[in-house]
Amino acid sequence: MSDLKNKTILTVACTGAWPSKENTPYVPITPEEEADEIIKCCAAGASIAHIHVRDPETLKASMDYDQFAKTVEIVRANCDIVINLTTSGGIGLADEVRMKPFQILKPEIASYDCGTMNWQDVTVFENSPQFLEKLGYEMQKANVRPEIEVFDVGMIENAARLVKKGALVAPLHFQFVLGVLGGMSATPENLFFLVDYVNKILPGSTWGALGIGRGHLPVMLAAMSLGGHLRVGMEDNILYSKGVLAKSNVEFVERTKRMVAEIGNTIATPDEARQILNLKNCNSK
Ligand code: ZN
Repeated sequence: MSDLKNKTILTVACTGAWPSKENTPYVPITPEEEADEIIKCCAAGASIAHIHVRDPETLKASMDYDQFAKTVEIVRANCDIVINLTTSGGIGLADEVRMKPFQILKPEIASYDCGTMNWQDVTVFENSPQFLEKLGYEMQKANVRPEIEVFDVGMIENAARLVKKGALVAPLHFQFVLGVLGGMSATPENLFFLVDYVNKILPGSTWGALGIGRGHLPVMLAAMSLGGHLRVGMEDNILYSKGVLAKSNVEFVERTKRMVAEIGNTIATPDEARQILNLKNCNSK
C-alpha cells in the first residue's frame, strides 16, 4: 500500500443536477455528450466519474433509468474510469426510483446523502432515516460502495449511527460538499473541523472534499494540504476563473493534475482508486 500513499483520487462531476446550457453552453447534458466528456476526462487522468442525468424533454435533474443506462454503457465501452452514480437526481422522488440505477447497473460507487436539509432556501432535500437505512442495505446487497456525502456536521453523526445499526459498514468514504445554501459554507476552517471530527468518531475513514462555486479553489487547496481526495467539474463550479467559463471539464482535470504535482503527489489511476477505496464491482470491462 505504501506506493498508494501519495496518490490523490480525482473525481470529475461533469453534468450535475443544475447547470443548464443557458448557464454555460459547455455543460454536457445528453448521455452522449456526458459520456464523451467523461471519456476525455479519463484520458486526461481523472480517476472517478460522478454521474447525474437529465430528463430528455425538460433537461432538468432526473433519475431516469434509461438515461443512466445509456451513459454508463458508452463510458464502459470506451474507458476504464470508476463509475459513481448519484442517488439524488431530483427532489421528491420515490425511494425505488432513486435506487434503481445502482441496483441494476452496479457501479462501483453511488452517492449516499447522509441527512435531510433545506436546499438553497427553496426546497427540502429529503433523505429520511428510513430511506438511509434501506439505501445502506441495498448498496451492500449490490456490492456498491457508498460515498457518504456530508453537507453539515450532523450528517457525520448520522453516518456513525448507521454504522452501529449495520446499514453502513466502516471504514467509510466521505465526500464533504461545502457551500450549498442550507449546509456548511465552503471555507477551509469548516473542512478542517469536519476532517478532525470524522477522525475522532469514525477513525480509518477516507475522504474527499469540494467547494461549490467560488469556494472551489479554497476548499481544494485545504483538502490537498490535509491529504484528502478531490472533486472537480461543472456540477460544482462552471467558472475556470473569475468571469471565465470553463470550456470543458477537462480543463479542471488538467489544472488539478498540475496542482497536485506541485505538492509531490500524483492523481490515482482508476485501478489505484479501486485499491484505495476497496471497490468490489469491477465493472468497467
Ligand atoms: Zn452529484
